[in-house]
Amino acid sequence: SLFPADLSGNTMQRQTPGVLLAAVEIEKFQTPELIIFNEKLAEEIGLGKLLDEQDAMFLSAADVPQHLQTYATAYAGHQFGNWAGQLGDGRAIFAGEIANKNGKKTELQWKGAGATPYSRHADGRAVLRSSVREYLMSEAMHHLGIPTTRALSLSFSGENVLRDMMYDGNPAYEKGAVMMRTAESFLRFGHFELLSAQQEIETLKKLTDFTIENYFPEIDSKSPAKYAEFFAEVSDRTADLIVEWYRVGFVHGVMNTDNMSVLGLTIDYGPFSFLDEYSLNFTSNTTDLPGRRYAFGNQAKIAQWNLWQLANALFPLIKDEKILEKILNDFSTDFWRKHDKMMALKFGFNEVLKNDDQFFTDAQKIMEDLKIDYTLFFNKIETLKEDTDLKSHFCNIFYHNPTDKQFSAFEKFTESYFERLKLNTISETESKQLMQQNNPKFVLRNYLLFECINEINSGKRDLLNKLLTALENPYTEIYPEFSQKRPSLYDGQTGSSTL
Ligand code: AMP
Ligand code: MG
Ligand code: MG
Repeated sequence: SLFPADLSGNTMQRQTPGVLLAAVEIEKFQTPELIIFNEKLAEEIGLGKLLDEQDAMFLSAADVPQHLQTYATAYAGHQFGNWAGQLGDGRAIFAGEIANKNGKKTELQWKGAGATPYSRHADGRAVLRSSVREYLMSEAMHHLGIPTTRALSLSFSGENVLRDMMYDGNPAYEKGAVMMRTAESFLRFGHFELLSAQQEIETLKKLTDFTIENYFPEIDSKSPAKYAEFFAEVSDRTADLIVEWYRVGFVHGVMNTDNMSVLGLTIDYGPFSFLDEYSLNFTSNTTDLPGRRYAFGNQAKIAQWNLWQLANALFPLIKDEKILEKILNDFSTDFWRKHDKMMALKFGFNEVLKNDDQFFTDAQKIMEDLKIDYTLFFNKIETLKEDTDLKSHFCNIFYHNPTDKQFSAFEKFTESYFERLKLNTISETESKQLMQQNNPKFVLRNYLLFECINEINSGKRDLLNKLLTALENPYTEIYPEFSQKRPSLYDGQTGSSTL
């Protein structure tokens, strides 16, 4: 059996033992069933091929090599703007670290393998619904080119898990699942917040040194300015990440500080969604209503707020308010500079010109007022020519039929777009290429996930297989039926809860 043998050579104990971790004994599922195995990822991280039943049982948290030290980590966090104190991996368990042939290390985690010392009152389980969502969405984000944790496998756990209560008061069971996910590191802002709040400054220093040495090779670990540089780098990576979310219309839905990766990865796939119709006010998290703290348009502001909390946590190491404030203020300027560059590329502009921020604001307003599908809008303007009949070209991107007045505003907008294109200093072909590289043809819409989960529950895998193919090639149209706006059947159903 390949996996456990390989892992025995590659698992290693963390450098900060006994302080942020608690050993966990896996309960081991009796009758799991492997549903998806990500062969390409397994090769990439050095795990190799799935050889036998024992490998499948390892992925499914049913067979755990004796020597493997399984543990969960403690972290804290601000949830919905409030200090929540100590949290921790309530249903994620360390399952090893593996190095590939280039020496690049990857951590493995089961999610849903059972309770840990940080589960509080919850069961440590995951349901099929949330696991399919995380598996598919984290892979979709990866193939879009966006930093993210990844998904190695998905299994039925063989158990039924109690989640929601039905309206009639009866308990509702759902199929349980376990996934294996991977990342270079799962360290969150909340790990640093916990140590700082508990005034364990020596351990905070050790953790930060460990993080810099292992994941931030660009920082000189002997420099006295290294902690400030670390914070600046986290801030930079966070700005890059949020710009990417805006590029593809991703709404995370629960940007609590315990769900923020210090490596700048998208982490914690819960009540996320891609936008269908463009809306800055849209929140995909039904528990985020009516506050809309985590709405699409708030994500940059919230990222900065979260960075404030990380700055507070790192203050004992940096002890210089001015430096921290400067980095936090720079976040806004950097974010908007990168954001405008990103928007320019979506429109096929090779540089950002002085009046472009106004053009982007106008575009946002048009998309929002006319309830335009964000993905389809950019796909359609890619093939727009000056003599194109706008009515028929754009007919399938509106979620409401535009009034005459609205449509003439839309026409005016396309005229200003053609004017702006003339200021490009690249060829039309190059401009189209920029658009093709920056505008996905396929996004994993919420309703597709919903239909896919229903199918799996009724024993079918056709849609699952199609989605897996489509999400691996998001800049190509493979299945025309996925290049359509959300069917009206799902109009009232664009969010999910955090469960
Ligand atoms: P989240 O909203 O997903 O960020 O979760 C918040 C906290 O609750 C984290 O510490 C999770 O580990 C924990 N948690 C969420 N679901 C479960 C569960 N089913 N069992 C145990 N802990 C959980
Ligand atoms: Mg979380
Ligand atoms: Mg979660």
